[in-house]
Amino acid sequence: MYISGSKNAIDTGDSYFGEIAEEPIAGSTEAKRKLIREDIRRLPVAGGKPLEARIEHARFIVDCPNCNSAEFYFDDKLFYCSLCHNSNVGGKTHKVKVPKNREKIETILGKRPIQNRHWREPETVDDLENENTLNELVS
Ligand SMILES: [Zn+2]
Repeated sequence: MYISGSKNAIDTGDSYFGEIAEEPIAGSTEAKRKLIREDIRRLPVAGGKPLEARIEHARFIVDCPNCNSAEFYFDDKLFYCSLCHNSNVGGKTHKVKVPKNREKIETILGKRPIQNRHWREPETVDDLENENTLNELVS
């Protein structure tokens, strides 16, 4: 069973389900289905501010603004909640934003044990570096 963060510093839905889909386990069928995003990309996009992705336990995730569930972030930058189907915006998708310095954030977090890889706005790269230093993680 693939554990988020064990191959990549931080996993997205694309990389996580990509790994699970390759495994000879019951969940691989569902993982393959999660990787098919064409139906989601065909949906209209709701207006308003994009949702902010965050990192929790080496996973890039997006909190659902409607039902408080969360989904993996996907690199198509579209959010569609599998639980409530974005019913608050008539089933349209939400745009998602990730930080411009995402790679740097992932590199810094990658030095930590998986259970300590967390990030959310407005934490900066300096904040994360300082936390690593306080925890004596050599860069
Ligand atoms: Zn939801």
